[in-house]
Amino acid sequence: MTEQAPEPFEPVDEDWQTAVAIVAHPDDMEYGGAAAVARWTSQGKKVVYVMVTSGEAGIDSLDPAECGPLREAEQLASARVVGVDTVEFLGHPDGVVEYGLPLRRDIARVVRRHRPDIVITSNFRETYGGVFLNQADHIAVGRATLDGVRDAGNRWVFRELLAEGHEPWNGVRQIWAAASPDAKHAVDTTEHFDLGVASLEEHKAYLAGLGGAMAEPREFLEGFGRGAGSRLGTRFAVPFEVFPLS
Ligand SMILES: [Zn+2]
Repeated sequence: MTEQAPEPFEPVDEDWQTAVAIVAHPDDMEYGGAAAVARWTSQGKKVVYVMVTSGEAGIDSLDPAECGPLREAEQLASARVVGVDTVEFLGHPDGVVEYGLPLRRDIARVVRRHRPDIVITSNFRETYGGVFLNQADHIAVGRATLDGVRDAGNRWVFRELLAEGHEPWNGVRQIWAAASPDAKHAVDTTEHFDLGVASLEEHKAYLAGLGGAMAEPREFLEGFGRGAGSRLGTRFAVPFEVFPLS
């Protein structure tokens, strides 16, 4: 029996001006997505990062009270490398993020404040394909992002946001989940690959506390980028599952 070659990826739509990336942890954008962000900021687009947690439970040898501020600082440095100046932290607890109304409301508030064309999140499927299990916070944040974006457009959902002065925003055209095993789209990151590596390398303390393949930024990102690139017809790429809203 011969194995079927995977379907080729379609290029993502790049006719937009503003994107907000909403992910669970510092480092989530850097494990794949940062090179794409570097490409977009080089095109003059604006990208904002929103981290649902500060990643304070991410380093085994470091108490969360010390770890949180350190990881926030590393994320700011990492974002700067790819042209992102605005990084916000929503302060949900790392490792035990709950899908629920408080998270949906916080995401709706972010979307109303920044009024993006595109919202990016990370893979929220059960796995990364095959047997590589996803992590609970990623799943909760991705699902809450799908819902919070639509809540942002409904005046009568989370009415306290109106009282805070945040008018509804219906302008999000698509939500993109990076590195989803169900991706059918991708963006060519060949020209911005090195910036993606440099961005991940800014997570110095985090990488020092990690072992295994994920602690080697260039090697990890080469493998990831080459796999997606082979389906887009480019050297490197980042895959996205695209959810159109309008
Ligand atoms: Zn993560």
